[in-house]
Amino acid sequence: MSVFSEILHNWYTTNARDLPWRRTSDPYFIWLSEIILQQTRVDQGLDYYLRFVNRFPDIRSLAQANEDEVLHYWQGLGYYSRARNLHEAAKSMNGCFPTIYNKVLELKGVGPYTAAAICSIAYGMPYAVVDGNVYRVLSRYFDIKTPIDSTEGKREFAEWAQSLLDKDHPGEYNQAIMDFGAIQCTPAMPRCHDCPLSNSCLALAKNKVNQLPVKNHKTKTSARYFNYLLIRTSKTLWLHKRTDKDIWHNLYELPLIETPQQLDALQLLEDESFHLLTTAIGSQVQLSHIEKVKHVLSHRIIYADFYLLEIKETTIQLPVHYFPIPIAEWRNYAMPQLVYRFLEKNAVPK
Ligand code: SF4
Repeated sequence: MSVFSEILHNWYTTNARDLPWRRTSDPYFIWLSEIILQQTRVDQGLDYYLRFVNRFPDIRSLAQANEDEVLHYWQGLGYYSRARNLHEAAKSMNGCFPTIYNKVLELKGVGPYTAAAICSIAYGMPYAVVDGNVYRVLSRYFDIKTPIDSTEGKREFAEWAQSLLDKDHPGEYNQAIMDFGAIQCTPAMPRCHDCPLSNSCLALAKNKVNQLPVKNHKTKTSARYFNYLLIRTSKTLWLHKRTDKDIWHNLYELPLIETPQQLDALQLLEDESFHLLTTAIGSQVQLSHIEKVKHVLSHRIIYADFYLLEIKETTIQLPVHYFPIPIAEWRNYAMPQLVYRFLEKNAVPK
């Protein structure tokens, strides 16, 4: 074992976080935890994990659930394709989790990182993980300047990670380096003062800790403008299912008019899509602006305006993809957090 791996191992012995998926070698639970923790902090993911395994304790229960329910259990975690992929993958397993690396890699939503994590932790196979934590620790400790988002960088870091892997305890080693990156060698303000690697860390010696890892491209974000309509009678509101290949696929939301730029209420009243949507409401249209929200996703910023259209008749016929539900039942539908938070405050007439 290299000095680096040995120090890491000793650090992990005293610093490992006690987490439920660490008390099992069942690949199903390890897979769930890995998918939940992609793009999610451990403290946030833990509750979701516990609720998820309580409702779907094995592959079959997840495979037999309907997608709406799976999405409902995922609500608020974001990156909903992860939940859809989990469900698809569970259906493809026929009740048995694959035991060969390449078969694990073929599961929907599983890339090299997740396959390496599952196979090393559940089966003790010698596959090194490379995630954001690993990039950061290795680039700093060994002063590797190759951009982590370049093809060359990906290859180089994968080789470093594989060569440093403790082949006798690959699962433990992988968890150790990821925890080390999350707790000790953090993106901002790493704890170099009490770091067991500080005597041999090249970035620290060269005073370059904050310059590593190197990234070529900044993530581009684009703006989108959503105008949501809470169309409501005293007992009913209307929803819509997002079926297009877009964010929040298969989640439910309020009737939406997306526009190329932000509109005020008067401009929205003039908008053609608004007319098409509300023709059936006719002269009853009374539009009140309720709330303006800026919702930040990884690659998009959504500027959402929420409007209330209070109506009297329940016999109106909105376009077919909008359907009425009793107000009391709105929580039964999996929704983006943006819409969920709005309805929490505004679904019920005051
Ligand atoms: S000394 Fe600082 S930069 Fe180097 S590995 Fe430790 S925490 Fe990371």
